[in-house]
Amino acid sequence: MELIQSIWEAGVVGAGGAGFPSHIKLNTTVDTLIINAVECEPLLETDKYYMRYFAEELIKSIEIVGAHLKVSRKIIGIKAKYKKEIECLTHAIKQQNAPIEIKALESFYPAGDEQMLVREILEVSIPPGGIPLAVGAVVSNVATLLDIEKSIRNIPVTSRVITVTGAVKTPTLISVPIGTSIKECLELAGDALPARYAVILGGPMMGADCHMEDVKNTFVTKTLGGIVVLPEDHPIITRKRLSFQHIINRTASSCIQCRMCTDLCPRFLNGHPLWPHKVMRAIGNGEKALEAYESALLCCECGICELYACPMGLSPKTVNQKVKQMLLSGGYKRKPSLGVSLTTEVHEMRNYRKVHSNRLTARVALSEYEHIHLDQVILFTPKCVTIGLKQHIGKPAIPCIKTGDYVTKGECIAEVEKDQMGARIHASISGIVTVTESAVIIRKDEQKEARHD
Ligand code: SF4
Ligand code: SF4
Repeated sequence: MELIQSIWEAGVVGAGGAGFPSHIKLNTTVDTLIINAVECEPLLETDKYYMRYFAEELIKSIEIVGAHLKVSRKIIGIKAKYKKEIECLTHAIKQQNAPIEIKALESFYPAGDEQMLVREILEVSIPPGGIPLAVGAVVSNVATLLDIEKSIRNIPVTSRVITVTGAVKTPTLISVPIGTSIKECLELAGDALPARYAVILGGPMMGADCHMEDVKNTFVTKTLGGIVVLPEDHPIITRKRLSFQHIINRTASSCIQCRMCTDLCPRFLNGHPLWPHKVMRAIGNGEKALEAYESALLCCECGICELYACPMGLSPKTVNQKVKQMLLSGGYKRKPSLGVSLTTEVHEMRNYRKVHSNRLTARVALSEYEHIHLDQVILFTPKCVTIGLKQHIGKPAIPCIKTGDYVTKGECIAEVEKDQMGARIHASISGIVTVTESAVIIRKDEQKEARHD
């Protein structure tokens, strides 16, 4: 079967980010396929596990995707310090006689941002507002490529391997069906240690904040690779929970315009016209400064400005997020390239201002969890899953089953049209279905299973 068809049928989306449908992203030809094997968010261990134990499948997938894209180069970008993983990949490359390069990178954050990765590997900058296609590249991450390899074997996306770490009794990797509750994921790690805790879904720098009261009603999606538990009064959490009005007040009273947020911003250092200090000045003073506000559209929300750079503890990233939302919801049309040519020059200090991963971990008060390295996976299947209909960029999928139906694991339960932005969704366990407005709930049919036994 044609690769794009297999990927579409299996419902593969970018597993490491916002969930861009892979059948759309890969429907092109380019010169270079870059594999994002950097796993740059602190504490996450999932991609490293995949590389140690599924290197053969990963290399096979890179070869298939590379042939489909008609690339002349396939390059794995990985941190030089991931020695064991590099060894496993090198072995698999040799075994398959695959013409794949490994580029060992410095350990800095956010090396896994695709704009940083392209810069490090190809030594060109993607134009502001652009994507890797603009420089003839496609970037795909490890988990996505493994989902693609499974799609070729007609296995849809129904589960995730997730790092559960931080303030839990037994940090672990878990392999669970999509739709498993976060509460059950925490229980697999022996539960949270602090009496009052918060959960970050994703990495600590860019992940979403989940209140402890919500863990029962929050569920694993196709894009979730990490669950990080922290005490509720941890600085990362308290910062995430400030009200926007409070952020504005603090900006107005405390921003000293030192421009550290801009000077350490990785996108600014890549040569993009992004100036968080100007956005902060405009917001703090209530100015109508369209050029500054437009620049917020170039922010990748890495959090360096907010959690690392600002000496006053202010929140430029959150301000950028809000400005972006306001511009886009107000109908602002993104300019294709915000006026800068393809040959974007990087800042002359870029190499000296990279934020080393160890420094970052210490600065954001995560050093006490830094030593946790995970190698064991707990397999778990819950009795009930709640599978969201929108786990990807684009339109929600439309259920193709109805309440009361019995579905088997792997069966398609929600569809999108092939030329639409979106992805199909499949049953992650077998059982009886309840369809709601935003999700499909599947409960195991214990009696039926007992009969089969
Ligand atoms: S680093 Fe902080 S204080 Fe300095 S300009 Fe940026 S927001 Fe203002
Ligand atoms: S979050 Fe801050 S440091 Fe990161 S890209 Fe946006 S403005 Fe730059």
